[in-house]
Amino acid sequence: MTTVERGPVTSEQAARESKLLAGVPTDLLVGGRWVPSSSEERFAVEDPATGLELTTVADAGVEDGAAALDAAVAAQATWGRTAPRERAEVLRRAFDAVVARTDDLALLMTLEMGKSLAESRGEVTYGAEFLRWASEQAAHVAGRYLPAPDGKQRVLVAKKPAGPCLLITPWNFPLAMATRKIAPALAAGCTVVLKPAAETPLTALLFAQVLQEAGVPDGVVNVVPCTRAGDVTGPLIADPRLRKLSFTGSTAVGKQLLKQAADGVLRTSMELGGNAPFLVFEDADLDAAVEGAMLAKLRNGGEACTSANRFYVHSAVAEDFSRRLAERVAAVKVSRGTEDGAQVGPLINEKGRSKVADLVDDAVSRGARVLTGGSRVEGPGYFYAPTVLADVALGSRLLAEEIFGPVAPVATFDTEDEAVALANDTEYGLVAYAYTGSTARALRLVERLETGMLGINTGVISNPAAPFGGVKQSGIGREGGEEGIEEYLETVYAGIADPWG
Ligand code: NAD
Repeated sequence: MTTVERGPVTSEQAARESKLLAGVPTDLLVGGRWVPSSSEERFAVEDPATGLELTTVADAGVEDGAAALDAAVAAQATWGRTAPRERAEVLRRAFDAVVARTDDLALLMTLEMGKSLAESRGEVTYGAEFLRWASEQAAHVAGRYLPAPDGKQRVLVAKKPAGPCLLITPWNFPLAMATRKIAPALAAGCTVVLKPAAETPLTALLFAQVLQEAGVPDGVVNVVPCTRAGDVTGPLIADPRLRKLSFTGSTAVGKQLLKQAADGVLRTSMELGGNAPFLVFEDADLDAAVEGAMLAKLRNGGEACTSANRFYVHSAVAEDFSRRLAERVAAVKVSRGTEDGAQVGPLINEKGRSKVADLVDDAVSRGARVLTGGSRVEGPGYFYAPTVLADVALGSRLLAEEIFGPVAPVATFDTEDEAVALANDTEYGLVAYAYTGSTARALRLVERLETGMLGINTGVISNPAAPFGGVKQSGIGREGGEEGIEEYLETVYAGIADPWG
């Protein structure tokens, strides 16, 4: 096992953390009021860097979920008719308010999720941008009007809010996954019930309070953290008053929700798991490829759906690439996210860490060489040493499953056809990365790779102005870009008799 130095938390830092935690709402937000759960049950939220409890949060039950949907339904008509400009201004104020609370939101995220403060601040910036983007879109929703080709009718196409939405979010981006759904929903005129992940409810609760302060009316955003997710969300999905389900999380849970949604033919958006290939061709700029690999692999400690999961490198440059990547990865500072210069924090929990350890052990048992890392980090918390594996055998589990940790497996290829076949050999299709000096090859890859998103000579592609989402079992629908708001709009067509007679 590797040991990583973890400096003591100073008394100043401890006081800052206690003060922040004391000010964060920990009840449910239903109809504009902060309320305990009807059973009065609460659950603990843990710091994954220490395994210690941070605080407890009200644990919503079935009745609380129902009350939240009642509140969203009650607020729908008024919010849906609120002038688009007014909705835009509420969202713009929310953007400003989130930015103003960057320090608090970032620290809270680091405490409950583990990523470094620098990464958390980056997430606040990224997450806030969805509020600004949606505020800009809110007043630009348009339909169309045209004569039918035979001239006998007029075609009127109108857009209207889909209606009350259930939004279910994961723990890995506690703020951005919430803003990426709430912002377009509100811009479109929908009210929402948010069920954040039980691992990271605090960021969502503080964000909801910020939204209240920014002027989001009562009942428009309701938040129900809970430990029995299926019990609470099942009845809501079955309720005909719910008009939209937007889920971000694992493919396994997404499939269950799709089955439930099928009964009521409920509209769904699904942002599911990934298994991103990272291709490095022989004509790539290797310095840039190593830099991009660091970002694509270690962003969020590897706990990202967009994380590079499999590195396929041309055999002519594989040794050089792996060695340089391993040197960079070995120098990364692993620590509690609040420490100065922290780069990689702990994994979310022991289950997540055991999965990473099992996947690495499997690859090593099939002949992979550990260039750096390859083991748990001793001490409290759920740390795993950032790892680079070379000569990974095809068939190793970690080439097929989401690793969700700081592990970079490198395998080789010899031709573009082979690289494309390897990249596409997965049921997932969220994102792919490719480093190449050839523009023609890059454009061929856009056409050849089965993916919703592609990073060409870049290791980060998330952008509020771009449509985020996957193909195959990585999901249905898009978030952000021009497309994001469409997920929350219904299209109504009216055929109108020829006004000339
Ligand atoms: P998860 O599927 O376990 O949980 C996601 C959310 O669903 C949580 O709020 C959880 O409480 C809830 N949930 C779990 N079981 C449920 C059920 N039966 N009914 C209703 N809700 C239920 O995923 P996770 O571990 O929180 O997040 C990691 C996964 O999310 C990874 O697979 C990752 O790729 C994916 N992810 C995808 C995107 C994307 O945009 N495609 C973004 C971030 C994360």
